[in-house]
Amino acid sequence: MKTIKELAKRVLLGDRRALSRAITLVESSRQDHRAEAMKLIQLLNSDKQQAMRIGLSGAPGVGKSTFIESFGMFLTGQDLSVAVLAVDPSSSYSGGSILGDKTRMEKLTREKRSFVRPSPSGTHLGGVARNTREAVRICEAAGFDIIIVETVGVGQSETIVSEVSDIFLLILSPAGGDELQGVKRGIMEMADVILVNKADGELKNQASQTCADFAGAARIFRKRIRDPEGYPKILPVSATNQTGLVEAWDTISELITWRKEKGFFEEQRAAQASFWFEYDVRQGLLKILDEPEIEELVRETAENVREGLILPQVAAADLVKKISNL
Ligand code: GDP
Repeated sequence: MKTIKELAKRVLLGDRRALSRAITLVESSRQDHRAEAMKLIQLLNSDKQQAMRIGLSGAPGVGKSTFIESFGMFLTGQDLSVAVLAVDPSSSYSGGSILGDKTRMEKLTREKRSFVRPSPSGTHLGGVARNTREAVRICEAAGFDIIIVETVGVGQSETIVSEVSDIFLLILSPAGGDELQGVKRGIMEMADVILVNKADGELKNQASQTCADFAGAARIFRKRIRDPEGYPKILPVSATNQTGLVEAWDTISELITWRKEKGFFEEQRAAQASFWFEYDVRQGLLKILDEPEIEELVRETAENVREGLILPQVAAADLVKKISNL
């Protein structure tokens, strides 16, 4: 690729190789790559293309990848193009990644109208947040109709996913009432639609029970006041039998249409832009602390605090003042 301009042009044409290269570029933390990535994102930003961004979360084993494969194939069957991205901060510890396994989403990976991107590994949460946001934007500029951003239900990755998504799906598997306690309240608050997967065979009745168990809880935990009647919706699906997919898609489309009509869709994207602005400011300020001279200053001050020469709160206030005057 000769220039970033050319790369941007090819991404806008939907060229898959350019798309992969562009995402690899934004995942790089090398200083010169960052500068190029920033340029690329700015070039792509002039494009007004809008995708439907679907965030998806659930504990390991609930059937996320099986569902994405079935649902993705269903969507491509409707003549919609689908990109799948993953947010997986845990992969930096485990060495693996949730989309790294080639056997996952085999059909969808081979499907012409889809693009499945394995999650990058070895990045910290701040890096993951930036990569994901930029990768979503790149896929959007490449003209995908639907972008699915998947995360495993651990840590803070749900916040990242919900802040890049227009709609947030939580996937559960059938379980007794005890399980309700296992789902983090924060995730329940985010969920626009809850899908109880594995509603097939012997688990079918239990899936209905889980839907009922969660119906009450979801409404109590729900923070958003601006939901249409009946949301958050809870639906049974079977990823392996491909049942409930039409209902899931109808529900998602209904909610997005409603939000667009009311102006909430754009409002949410604007709020997300301001969230990411503040996030980046904070990240930028935190990075200043890593600069050698500042690190030295912090170390010296900390030593004085330890020796009781200065009160912690006084030392902190002094240090912040010193840094902001630099
Ligand atoms: P993930 O860890 O959330 O991505 O879960 P996977 O998609 O890897 O699925 C975990 C296990 O659940 C696998 O053994 C799947 O075959 C199984 N599974 C996934 N979806 C369904 C389903 O709809 N019904 C049944 N019975 N099993 C399923």
